[in-house]
Amino acid sequence: MEYQRTIAKPVSLEGKGVFTNKTIKIELYPLFENEGIIFERADLPDTPRIPLHIDYVIGAEGSTVLSDGKVSIYLIEHLLSALHGLGIDNLLIRVYGEEIPLFDGSALYFVRKIREAGFRILPAPRRKYRLLKAFSMENGKGRITFLPSRELRIKAKIEFSHPLIGTQECIYSHNPFHYLQEISFARTFGFKDLLEERKRKGILKGGDFSNAIVLDEEGILNPEGLRCKDEFVRHKVLDLMGDLYALGLPLVAEVQAEFSGHRLHIEALKSLYKAGLLEEFEERALTFLCILNKKRALF
Ligand SMILES: [Zn+2]
Repeated sequence: MEYQRTIAKPVSLEGKGVFTNKTIKIELYPLFENEGIIFERADLPDTPRIPLHIDYVIGAEGSTVLSDGKVSIYLIEHLLSALHGLGIDNLLIRVYGEEIPLFDGSALYFVRKIREAGFRILPAPRRKYRLLKAFSMENGKGRITFLPSRELRIKAKIEFSHPLIGTQECIYSHNPFHYLQEISFARTFGFKDLLEERKRKGILKGGDFSNAIVLDEEGILNPEGLRCKDEFVRHKVLDLMGDLYALGLPLVAEVQAEFSGHRLHIEALKSLYKAGLLEEFEERALTFLCILNKKRALF
């Protein structure tokens, strides 16, 4: 039996919001089994809560947004990626502002803080979605395909006419150890000109080297360099892990994404959900706990 998990004790994080340039605090609290992932706008007078569900998620340009039509929380994707990667099923996320801080542009900081707090196993089987039928969606050059599978596998492909990127592909087979070692550290990236233009327009007030890889025409401007040569496509997998978790339950499927972004990911997930192609089931396989026992030192 694979059991649901939450964190063992509360976690507090604080960082700069890339859209607002404000320092924003977020707090993570354990929840009981079957409560799911719940966001709270803790800075607003009546502290409204929004449960993580595909109906409340919007795929925007460069960010995934949680919104119930009245209040919103921007940039939820990297935190969701960390929760998906580590297998956190139940969590209250109090956000003191309108966006999740970007930190270094990867999921590393969330992963570190959650692992420091530790995990609590809850007395209920993990609930997941299995895919009943293949499904594909296109949007210009972008395409995302979902195929039935016994495990979550992601194949991502990106293409940018930049000497450091070109065409990059990544095949990822999900378990928490692969997530830590292959995906969690990969930072988001942006082009210097675009960043400057968005800053001028007041959209990305806090965007700089500390929270993204910044590219110019030939190379990157970050003095520390890349964390690995294909960090760019690994970040695409990190984003997909976050966006897939917008369903509210982990999806077991093969996901092939080519030149895709948040908008296409979320639109495709909404369609899958509405078309009734997802079937909820309880995970009774032993695989995860076996791995957990073998590699307990990592957690
Ligand atoms: Zn991202």
